[in-house]
Amino acid sequence: MTNSNTPKILILPGDGIGPEIVDEAVKVLECLRGNGLLVEVEHGLIGGAAYDETRSPFPEQTIAQAESCDAILLGAVGGPQYDEVERHLRPEQGLLDIRAHLNLFANLRPALLYAELASASSLKPELVANLDLLIVRELTGGIYFGQPREQLIENNVRRAYNTMVYDENEISRIAHVAFLAAQKRDKRLCSVDKANVLEVSLLWREVMEEVHQQYPDVELSHMYVDNAAMQLVRAPKQFDVMVTSNLFGDILSDAAAMLTGSIGMLPSASLNQENKGMYEPIHGSAPDIAGQGIANPLATILSLAMLLRYSLNQEMAAQNIEQAVIATLQQGARTQDIVDGNIQAVSTSDMGNAVLVNLQKIISV
Ligand code: NAD
Repeated sequence: MTNSNTPKILILPGDGIGPEIVDEAVKVLECLRGNGLLVEVEHGLIGGAAYDETRSPFPEQTIAQAESCDAILLGAVGGPQYDEVERHLRPEQGLLDIRAHLNLFANLRPALLYAELASASSLKPELVANLDLLIVRELTGGIYFGQPREQLIENNVRRAYNTMVYDENEISRIAHVAFLAAQKRDKRLCSVDKANVLEVSLLWREVMEEVHQQYPDVELSHMYVDNAAMQLVRAPKQFDVMVTSNLFGDILSDAAAMLTGSIGMLPSASLNQENKGMYEPIHGSAPDIAGQGIANPLATILSLAMLLRYSLNQEMAAQNIEQAVIATLQQGARTQDIVDGNIQAVSTSDMGNAVLVNLQKIISV
């Protein structure tokens, strides 16, 4: 039974492997609904799939659905068949448009490495086994959007500049997201900046300290970005939550993702001020394996867990999904991207079904 207060999840499968991996996450969601989770579920179009039907990668109907839902689960967008489409109509533009439309300013990127998969990392297994860190990146401000920005010719010399700029409100809202996330984890937050060189980082640090007053249970530390990059590859398990600006976060979150060595395993969230969020795997639409039923659905299933935790406040359901994924890996199920040695890889739907069986067991205990 649903009513107008029932939270609504919008499912946007997208392109390539998107529909295949999202199908598995939807099975998991349906299992939770069958066990009492009250949510409404709606499906919509984005990216190339939306362009094919409506000639827009983010059509009016999807805009209306995105505005009226509480959270979005997205697969991936893009594909080589859209390479000749005008830039503003390409699938990837649909993704940029929905992020901008919903003002998704906070990007949460966990880097999780289950002990069972430690050999997939480029670092020594003991440095990364059970790695569990979260990078909170500011997504709509900083040097990527700062004005003025220009490339010009002065006295016959080509010159270009960008502006790194944040105001205190932009810093404080991302700080709140990071402190709240830390409160749900190990309560340690490391703010990354370049305060020894940049005025904007000095303000960043000041505001982080001010917001910290409201979260006395969270331990706050500061680190320069060059040191943070070094520490991430030296001893990544020292971190719980890291918060940083758009540019620094872009670089550090990709480095952290690579520590885990398995792109098919990593979820992400992008949140706005109302905690509405879009949740998606960090990988793309993988056209090279689309339609073969071999993609790893775990990043999408783990994105659903983040959705339940951050937008629907369903911590128990989120943990149940995560436990089911761990149990599945412990039993040895591996899709081809994480397979090690001579084990036979399982299909996308076999992996989803294995998670489902474990989830049922966990729920019924
Ligand atoms: P990609 O992440 O799609 O694929 C990179 C490699 O990882 C490929 O070999 C792919 O087979 C593999 N891979 C990715 N996800 C996997 C999974 N779940 N299971 C197993 N293997 C997986 O990156 P790409 O090839 O650079 O981009 C392909 C398309 O995706 C492009 O059109 C790009 O624009 C788009 N893209 C979309 C997003 C998004 O929707 N958020 C992000 C990145 C790229």
